[in-house]
Amino acid sequence: MTHVRVRIAPSPTGPLHIGTARTALFNYLYARHTGGTFVLRLEDTDVARSSEAFERDILDGLHGLGLTWDEGPAVAGLDERGPYGPYRQMARLPLYAEAAERLLAADLAYPCYCTPQELETERRRQKAAMEPPRYAGTCAPLTREQRAARAAEGRPAALRFRVPPGTVAFDDIVRGHVEIDTAALGGDFVLVRADGTPLYHFTVVVDDAAMDITHVIRGEDHLSNTPKHILLFRALGHEVPAFAHLPLILNPDRTKMSKRKSQTAVDDYVAQGFIREALVNYLALLGWSTGTEEEILPLDEIVARFDLSAVNRAGAVFDRDRLEWLNGQWIRRLDPDDLAERLLPFLEAEAVVGAIDRIPALDEVRAIIPLVQERLPVLGAIGDLVGFLFVAEPPLDPALVIPKRWDGATTVSGLAAARDAIESNGQVAFDAEGLEATLRALAAAHDWKAGDLFMAIRVAVTGRTATPPLFETLVALGYERTLARLARACDLVRSASPT
Ligand code: GLU
Ligand code: ZN
Repeated sequence: MTHVRVRIAPSPTGPLHIGTARTALFNYLYARHTGGTFVLRLEDTDVARSSEAFERDILDGLHGLGLTWDEGPAVAGLDERGPYGPYRQMARLPLYAEAAERLLAADLAYPCYCTPQELETERRRQKAAMEPPRYAGTCAPLTREQRAARAAEGRPAALRFRVPPGTVAFDDIVRGHVEIDTAALGGDFVLVRADGTPLYHFTVVVDDAAMDITHVIRGEDHLSNTPKHILLFRALGHEVPAFAHLPLILNPDRTKMSKRKSQTAVDDYVAQGFIREALVNYLALLGWSTGTEEEILPLDEIVARFDLSAVNRAGAVFDRDRLEWLNGQWIRRLDPDDLAERLLPFLEAEAVVGAIDRIPALDEVRAIIPLVQERLPVLGAIGDLVGFLFVAEPPLDPALVIPKRWDGATTVSGLAAARDAIESNGQVAFDAEGLEATLRALAAAHDWKAGDLFMAIRVAVTGRTATPPLFETLVALGYERTLARLARACDLVRSASPT
């Protein structure tokens, strides 16, 4: 068996995209499952649109998801790793120049002197004639003398690949047998621009060949590029790797996932409190499944069970609700102390925007984990859920304090009676069971529905109708604050609804 070598080749022209993360994951899974090598290579030849900040975002994002590579480039804080470097294309220009020379010398590629205007005129003619765009092959038959004459005129030359007639066929691991007539490839294509810039089709193949990549696992949007790549591998005298094209990720309306219709940056999900366990689990299910109903799988188990040939062909709809559900499931499975630590930055963020008055200490966060662990779809929901614990007084709408079946006067009596009952029990009995018994007895004695009394208390002390369980919430709030907030709500309702 050959040693598997796979790669992810992101262009640092934007933040880490969900699609790139999914491609990285599937390469990682295949490498880890087979004991192979996972390479990260930066395709940074689009100098105008590439940036170091995007490089960082992509690499940090992948690391944050737990996707580590075996070979890759140097970025701030990280040394280059691996014997096939450099791992960024801008540092590999001499290799492309050398490969270009070889193809030119073997007449597998030729210089094209067509000016942009000439190419544009031809394109317009084709469009008017309803023909598909293709390079007309003007420079393909030029003799050595004709080339020399054009060069002498000072015409810059691009390098074009001579597309041979015939068909290209390959067996894609996901899509099965693919066959295409090379006549459909749009004519001889440019490998190196007249200004010397090598283009994607060329660099990707030179690099995959030089890095001994055995399996090219990438998005289906690249399927139409593959015949060109296969022709280039052959021209370079290199064995053609296996290909696996992953299904497209779709918006809910089944169009290709786009920024306009879906949130696409991995960072944004992380910032909202999607945790890496859930993200990785969800990304794995975008195109792959165990073949069973099982959905909640940790990364190491996915690695163990992953099978490239089990990847679906059908497009995978990105369903945010399902991701949220999965995220909630994963949050429940976290160790409580770990969850507390992961929540702290989100509470800090709440404090920064003024939604809470102070940043709680880690111990305080640990203490409320039983209240929140089963109720967080995302970590970022923590402020909404228990922010009332960390403010001096929550904003209170008196109308909201009055339960549907009650009026202002009943609410005032209910809250006052609850306050008195809690106070007469004293601080020692201030626990969830004691509170529940006391308040149920109080409701019964007044012939109130317990639910109404509890709702009035809930809103009185938190300002909200939906909170963690009431009695645990009161305990978290503490004896003094519970009494104070009940008294305050009582006053507010009384003055808002004079009898
Ligand atoms: N830079 C390309 C991309 O991010 C790489 C494509 C490939 O894997 O060949 O889409
Ligand atoms: Zn030409």
